Amino acid sequence: MAASPEFRPAEGPPRFHLLAKPSGSTCNLDCTYCFFLSKEALYPDDRQRMTEATLEAYIRQLLESHRTPEVTVAWQGGEPTLMGLDFFRKSVEFVEKYRRPGQQIEYTFQTNGVLLDDTWCAFLKQHEFLVGLSVDGPREIHNRYRVNKGGEGTFDQVVRGWEHLRRHGVEVNILCTVNAANQDHGRKVYCFFRDGLGARYMQFIPIVERSTPELLPLANLGWSGQPSGARVLYTQTGSAVTERTVVSERHGQFLIDIFEEWVRHDVGEVFVQFFDVTLNAMFGRHTLCIHAPTCGYGPALEHNGDLYSCDHFVEPGFRLGNIHETHMRELMASSQQRRFGLDKRDRLTRQCQECEVRPLCNGGCPKDRFVPSHDGEPGHNYLCQGLFRFFTHTQPAMRVMAGLLQQNRPAAGVMAWIAAQDAKRRRNDTCPCENGRKWKHCHGRDVPQSLSPDTASAGA
Ligand code: SF4
Ligand code: SF4
Repeated sequence: MAASPEFRPAEGPPRFHLLAKPSGSTCNLDCTYCFFLSKEALYPDDRQRMTEATLEAYIRQLLESHRTPEVTVAWQGGEPTLMGLDFFRKSVEFVEKYRRPGQQIEYTFQTNGVLLDDTWCAFLKQHEFLVGLSVDGPREIHNRYRVNKGGEGTFDQVVRGWEHLRRHGVEVNILCTVNAANQDHGRKVYCFFRDGLGARYMQFIPIVERSTPELLPLANLGWSGQPSGARVLYTQTGSAVTERTVVSERHGQFLIDIFEEWVRHDVGEVFVQFFDVTLNAMFGRHTLCIHAPTCGYGPALEHNGDLYSCDHFVEPGFRLGNIHETHMRELMASSQQRRFGLDKRDRLTRQCQECEVRPLCNGGCPKDRFVPSHDGEPGHNYLCQGLFRFFTHTQPAMRVMAGLLQQNRPAAGVMAWIAAQDAKRRRNDTCPCENGRKWKHCHGRDVPQSLSPDTASAGA
């Protein structure tokens, strides 16, 4: 998500990170945890394809609304490749038609990778798109929830897409969800991306699917229509979670497991978004809305021009309006959107307000705030336990990296600091990742085997 810009109430934010959904919620896959599939119910009897008129209005208003030279044109879904390449060629033409002198455009494109081929990748490279590719880990882990309409795993198709992207030199960020299937395999998942795929940019997103207790059995089946015809429209309500949802504490352990590998071997070589976000927050710079004090600068645009407060709140109560009726700039400056962003700070529980890592965490995303705090206050973050563990566990190394950066030295110097500590460790000591295993069986030993996409399986 976008960096936090200064909110100027009369005009709205100078810059924002709009996620456009040209094919609405439609997708060629049927990933079990993807609650966006249920949003089809918001637009019944609608083919869910953005028209050229909406595309033009979107691009024009986006460029007009920005008061910074940098503008991000971000495509998401559903699955945007379903629109076909001509749609995106047209979008680039509209950008060229409406961009003002000095405006620099960054294109981003989130995809499941299944339809990518040489023609797509040549286009993405030509216009320097930054592509987010959804992969959840080695084959068995990925295939657990990322399945096609026939319920079959999609690992091989996604890896094929990855190879096309690599061959064309497209910049790719791996987007991996953290869910019940991979939560205990942090290091293995990370090493597969690093060694098996050769990825250098990664992002880990926790799966938290809320439901009411009454709807939970149906929600556990997945979010697309059931054979019985029954379906649930996902909304951010209810305090139950599906069986695919990551366990808070294990989410923290997953991140620590990766951090302990990364901080020993890969600082400055491999970029994990959440680690960068945490290091930036040490300097008071909040580069991810989720851990910024306020939010409200990541709206979502539906295929028909409806603008919503956030990608996670595409539901009736959070619709700001339609860009064919009201200019995007006005919608972004509306009191409704301002309130949405400020509530993130103003509705922090007391536990968050008094928390020692609050300057780094800021209570996380409002969509995850549905459990009671320690003292029973409602609206606390479901992921708190794991977040607290991660932020406290990584503080010593983060402080070393921050210190190095302040001296204009590379953060990678932290690896020597860690190596000096490891030299004093005995083989039977408990591993510093705190998962209870011995050092010699955990981060003290090399990654078990070279992970190639052909051989990678879930393993231990
Ligand atoms: S609700 Fe969450 S994801 Fe949406 S803008 Fe706010 S912090 Fe970001
Ligand atoms: S770690 Fe927990 S208590 Fe602390 S700020 Fe984050 S959500 Fe709040």
